[in-house]
Amino acid sequence: MIFLRDRRTAGFIEFGLIVTCVVLFVATGLLYVSQARQQALLTATVRSSGWVAYQGQLEFVKAEAAFSKVTPAPTAQGLGNLLLRMEILRSRLPLLYDSDEGRVLSDVVDTKGLTQPLETLLDQVIAEIETLDPDDGATTRRLEALHGRLLPLGEALQRILMESVAYNQEIFRRERAVAEAPEVVSLVLLFITGGCLVLLLLLQGRRDRVRLREIVDAKAAITAMEENLRAVIQAVPACVAVVDPDTGHATFINSNAAALVAATPDDAAWPGFVRAVRDAAGEPVGGCWGTLTMAYTRSTGDIVSLRGSICSVLWQQRPQQLIVLADTTRVRSAELQVMQAAKLATLGEMATAIAHELNQPLAVIKMAVANARRLLDPLPGGEGVMAKLERISAQVDRAKRITDQVRRYGRMPSEQLQPFSLRHAVDLAVGFIAEQYRAANIRLTIDANVPIEALVLGEQTMFEQVIVNLLINARDAFDAGRAGLCARQVTLALYREGDQLVVSVEDNAGGVAEDMLPRLFEPFATTKPTENGTGLGLSLARSVVRDMNGSISVQNVGGGARFLVRLPLLPSAEARDAA
Ligand code: ADP
Repeated sequence: MIFLRDRRTAGFIEFGLIVTCVVLFVATGLLYVSQARQQALLTATVRSSGWVAYQGQLEFVKAEAAFSKVTPAPTAQGLGNLLLRMEILRSRLPLLYDSDEGRVLSDVVDTKGLTQPLETLLDQVIAEIETLDPDDGATTRRLEALHGRLLPLGEALQRILMESVAYNQEIFRRERAVAEAPEVVSLVLLFITGGCLVLLLLLQGRRDRVRLREIVDAKAAITAMEENLRAVIQAVPACVAVVDPDTGHATFINSNAAALVAATPDDAAWPGFVRAVRDAAGEPVGGCWGTLTMAYTRSTGDIVSLRGSICSVLWQQRPQQLIVLADTTRVRSAELQVMQAAKLATLGEMATAIAHELNQPLAVIKMAVANARRLLDPLPGGEGVMAKLERISAQVDRAKRITDQVRRYGRMPSEQLQPFSLRHAVDLAVGFIAEQYRAANIRLTIDANVPIEALVLGEQTMFEQVIVNLLINARDAFDAGRAGLCARQVTLALYREGDQLVVSVEDNAGGVAEDMLPRLFEPFATTKPTENGTGLGLSLARSVVRDMNGSISVQNVGGGARFLVRLPLLPSAEARDAA
């Protein structure tokens, strides 16, 4: 049914079928009424009109019989009987045109024209019969004459009867035709009406099926959309909850919200959380809430910073409130760490300045000690004082070394990259850290398989900071409590791999925590308490090494971590040019 594809056409066809059904229904009804009427009329006509004609004729025959009987031998009784017949006949004649049946008969034959003129004749005959005497010899002759005068009446009645019979036959024929015709016509009409109705039902059924399919498809689409929405909400890196605006009961929570508050919406923690969020959001202005910021204490006791908003949504066909909150704890702590880093930077500047200022008195002490030794040298018994002066001189040297390293560490890096000896830089960094390692009881092994002439291009001070940072991190790792019971050991190895120089710093302090590995070089990634760690060391190390066209990587090996710094070896010709 191609036309069904076009809804407008189908609508027109439906309308047409409905109109056809109504028209046919009315037509069938009218046909039925008219046929019923016609049949009733015909039946009445057939019965009555034929009957009236027949009655007239019958009475005439009876009158003739009475004539025949009384004429040969007239008697008073015979004449009386004849008179009675004649009067009955006389009374029947008006019925032929002046009764209901007679009027119907008049449509077929002019009964009035035929019989009315003869009524006068009949009256005269009746009047004359009344005057007849049975004993009179002329009565027979007179009766014969009167009988003869009635012949035209007999012919007229005969004609009326014949016409009536013919008419009745015609009526019978038409009645049969009418009786047969309606069946066919009604049947056809009924069939068409039924057909139209069936078509209508088919159309409706088809349309209902299409609508049903559309509804089912629409429902499936809505379900799929809702599923997608749920998946998106689940994937959103924020806490999302849908709550009832009246009861505050959570109807949906995503995994982040479950992790933050409680695994199921029915948990007792949820009402308190929703209340806290609403309190933080305040009253809506024009149905909208602004951005909210709040601190929430989790069941574990941790305090998290949250930032987000509430909005009204339609969720599963019901008006609900959507709470979306992002955990800003790390951002907050990063902010704190940046502040801490700024403080450290200031402290570093101060340390550099102090180291610089200490250089002067140290130089004076050193010179004074040297003078004192020179003055004491020729004097006898001054060995004990000399030894003390030597110790003072050695400690001054050590203090000088420390201030030098502090100054070097704090010196601002130059803009331009310079070739420098990798091994020399590593030695300086180790010197800076050696004292701390001794204090922490860590054995530092240097395995330098690179000549002192091997150069790399970069900013030496910054690179030293990279090595210092790796060594300090290794030291701190021992304090983190992940190390085993074996002796604390850090191995610093230098070796060449093709046209690259590699610095390897390996410890046995337990390795980097697995969750830290993928983001170890990101800024502010730290496992240390805020007062100790900034999480900037490795991030700075990576940017310094990158500036030197190198790379830095980490892996857990054995019982600890191994950091590898790879740097391109500067060919000697290039080194000369750069110098
Ligand atoms: P900070 O030292 O301030 O934390 P870093 O960027 O230098 O910042 O280090 C980041 C994190 O890397 C440390 O907090 C620590 O968890 C981890 N880490 C670095 N070196 C090691 C190491 N040798 N062993 C184990 N963990 C380490």
